[in-house]
Amino acid sequence: MQENEDTLINDPYRDERYSSELQRRGVSKQFYDSNTTLTCPECGNSFNLFYSRAKYCTGCPESIKGCQYARCTYCDTEFPFRSFMSKKSSKVTSDYLGSIIQRYHNTFGERPGR
Ligand SMILES: [Zn+2]
Ligand SMILES: [Zn+2]
Repeated sequence: MQENEDTLINDPYRDERYSSELQRRGVSKQFYDSNTTLTCPECGNSFNLFYSRAKYCTGCPESIKGCQYARCTYCDTEFPFRSFMSKKSSKVTSDYLGSIIQRYHNTFGERPGR
């Protein structure tokens, strides 16, 4: 696995597209990063990161502590957030996902990470 951050990020302009327009409308950076659509490197299908985390990563004991992997909803391949965002965003996004998913499960009465 390559460790050079620049070659790992396949969309270097993503952060730039989080514009002042979105900020003005009250969309947080974390929400923007969590609600992103990813393309699986294995099967090429696209899926929503939040949906995948809420639905498919619930059995993962790491998910509420901040698992920095995305799970493809088509082929179950897990790949690191770092392949599509910076190291810093990866950490922030996983923490954010952990917190909103905990809230999601509290709301719907399911318990994560059993
Ligand atoms: Zn896949
Ligand atoms: Zn996981």
